[in-house]
Amino acid sequence: MLSFDTIVALSTPPGAGALAVIRLSGPEAVHITASIFSKKNLADQPGHTLHYGTLRDPNSAAILDEVVVALYHTPRSFTREDVVEISCHGSDYVVRQVLAVLLRQGARLAEAGEFTKRAFLNGALDLAQAEAVADLIAADSALSHRVALNQLRGGFSDELRGLRARLVQFASLLELELDFGEEDVEFADRSGLARLLTEVRGVVAGLLRSFELGSVIKNGITTVIAGRPNAGKSTLLNALLREERAIVSAIPGTTRDFIEDEVSLDSIRFRFVDTAGLRDNPADEVEAIGVRRTRERIGQAALLLYLFDLTNLTPAEVAADVAELTRELPQLPVLVVGNKLDAASEAQAAAFTDLNTEYPTPNTQHPTPHKLQPVLLSAATQTGLDNLQTALLAQVRGAGLEQSASATIVTNVRHARALETAASHLAAVQQGMEIAVGTELLAADLRHALAALGEITGEISSDDLLTSIFTQFCIGK
Ligand code: GDP
Repeated sequence: MLSFDTIVALSTPPGAGALAVIRLSGPEAVHITASIFSKKNLADQPGHTLHYGTLRDPNSAAILDEVVVALYHTPRSFTREDVVEISCHGSDYVVRQVLAVLLRQGARLAEAGEFTKRAFLNGALDLAQAEAVADLIAADSALSHRVALNQLRGGFSDELRGLRARLVQFASLLELELDFGEEDVEFADRSGLARLLTEVRGVVAGLLRSFELGSVIKNGITTVIAGRPNAGKSTLLNALLREERAIVSAIPGTTRDFIEDEVSLDSIRFRFVDTAGLRDNPADEVEAIGVRRTRERIGQAALLLYLFDLTNLTPAEVAADVAELTRELPQLPVLVVGNKLDAASEAQAAAFTDLNTEYPTPNTQHPTPHKLQPVLLSAATQTGLDNLQTALLAQVRGAGLEQSASATIVTNVRHARALETAASHLAAVQQGMEIAVGTELLAADLRHALAALGEITGEISSDDLLTSIFTQFCIGK
């Protein structure tokens, strides 16, 4: 166990609440708490016990609060150090007073993520698991929660450790060959190594592919809502979010900034981005910029929701707009939505409902025309929204999101980077073997690949890396 000082922080969110939990960790955690706790001597109590009592300021003898203290003794705690959790009343004033006294008695205010960092440094968690703690705290859909929990429980780490262990065996045989240098021996069976590399590269490639899915689960599916001014984009976004976030107005071109918000539908997160209206001749410069940015945003979207006003566009105009928007993005899934069903005549609605044909697209590079059977709804009266939700979910289910929720999914950019590095070094080892380069080069590339895989779980880590990971946490975690 590494020896540290004793840290303290509020572990529940700041602000008024029924309870607030103040957590201490470190060699003096029990002693410091005992010095302000009256009723019994906490230092004599066993771990994993709860104690009701009074906290007093030892200087003024003023009562601070009536509290319940939970004791955890090293190494049976989250950080593996002595840990004390004080549940006090959830008032900012009480919390400030108690923290001030604890600091005076010898504790130090914890830095962001320091509790979890200690858990990592003391071997309670590996790095990927520690990062999962942050993900779990941030998880706000059933899927992202499941993925984070799997990672916290070590699913991903186990898989990586398995890969590394097998590569290490080979690496050490190669190193052995190097030790014998001039004698020209081959301990490592080259065809066995080739098979192993193919297999490991396959697993790494699979994990990298899962990252795309992982980022969908963690960050939501970026859905850009685009269409002509006054189609009802802001109104639809408001209806989806059920709150007034976007500015709704009857003057065309008022949505100049991007408004982003997230909605969880059936445990899948959608990040909706409202855009400035698309017009060929934008009325002013600000709007011209808005239109250009709309195109940029569409370029980053996972899904395009094209919205049009049923009362003033024909199927041919809709087809032309969609073709124009997706001109450079033939792969982008598009959901076409007709709005203002409440105001549309029967004939106007029928023009779109009877339409079972595929819209022709003028894009010659994209031979299969988009199927654009529109979803019809009224954003203002909120009718037909459930059809839109069903259509949105169908888009995602098509991508196979649900089935893969139980498999290991990479959600962390740092992990993905490390996997990419590992993949390129493994490719180099394999290519090197094909052209029979010297053992020295093979061994070097294999070492780099191992280092990259080891960085994910923190078997190999630098201070800078640890600092950058743990400062992303909040204080108290
Ligand atoms: P945007 O420019 O595409 O963002 O359009 P807005 O959401 O600002 O809406 C433009 C106008 O259309 C506003 O006056 C809305 O009240 C109106 N509107 C939006 N949705 C509907 C709808 O479903 N039915 C009717 N009748 N009017 C709507």
